[in-house]
Amino acid sequence: MDVDEAGTGLIGAIDLGGTKILSLVVDMLGEVHGVDVRPTEAHRGPDAVLRRMVESLTAALVEAGRGMKLEAVGVAAPGPIDFEQGTVVEAPNLPGWSNVPVVELIADMVGCPAILENDANAAAWGEFTLGAGRGSRHLVYLTVSTGIGGGLVLDGRLYRGANGAAGEIGHIPLVEDGPRCGCGARGCLEALASGTAIARRAREALATGAAPILARLAGDEPVTARTVYEAAVQGDAAAQAIMDEAGRHLGRGLTAVVNVFNPDHIVLGGGVMKSGEMLLRPALAEVQARALRLARDHVQIALASLGDRSGALGAAMLARELVVRAVHVTEEET
Ligand SMILES: [Zn+2]
Repeated sequence: MDVDEAGTGLIGAIDLGGTKILSLVVDMLGEVHGVDVRPTEAHRGPDAVLRRMVESLTAALVEAGRGMKLEAVGVAAPGPIDFEQGTVVEAPNLPGWSNVPVVELIADMVGCPAILENDANAAAWGEFTLGAGRGSRHLVYLTVSTGIGGGLVLDGRLYRGANGAAGEIGHIPLVEDGPRCGCGARGCLEALASGTAIARRAREALATGAAPILARLAGDEPVTARTVYEAAVQGDAAAQAIMDEAGRHLGRGLTAVVNVFNPDHIVLGGGVMKSGEMLLRPALAEVQARALRLARDHVQIALASLGDRSGALGAAMLARELVVRAVHVTEEET
């Protein structure tokens, strides 16, 4: 799309997380002109959080420094959403968020059209349009953090499934009678390769006294995937084995993705992927060994390039579609 097609206005984006709100103001090409980050203060409930979201977006718009209004706003929110209705169905880390009509409320408060998307889908769209998946047509995005989320872009379009529940790659079942997953099942990819899973394996190793460097680094603090990574870098064999095991599980999940979707790109984001090669190498080895050749030889597997902005940028680029569509409708009418 060129700039003329959609005008030269600004698009707002709000990435709502359990702990922080990230707002961006971008132009039609996705160039960032204003940023605001503030704590969500989720305990204050949906009404207060919605006001904070608008305050945050307003601050980002002030930073953008133009006395003009936003053309559209995109909101990325955790948990299941109803895309058609524009509601957050429920959000695990946001108390009181049950069937909140975010699109209606934000559009009212900001005074422009709004769109709502699940955060992993938004991040997939962000990486597809502006990040590591640029030029792709069939992209699968995975975020590996405390959990494992996913988003699918198939044939150039975000694929949401029959009722918005598609892309839950973290819940591919891998191990019968494996560790309990947040979803209630056992042995899901998320229960084996997420930050939570890595930390759980680390606690098991610490309990046996098998990880001296990890024990020293963790001290009295609860062990995290980050600590396991650092211990592995410093040569802790148990920590290295935990990371390697998580990477191989991740690779088996990716193998399923490669075989089912035949994507041209898989993009891996989320905090745990900051461990980079340590997870990526065993994961890629699994894909190489297990995936079907035709699909395997075509796919590029890369780390996300937009960092913690992929969700907000994706939401902005989805909101841009509202503006482009409106321009087209107007042209048809005249
Ligand atoms: Zn699960």
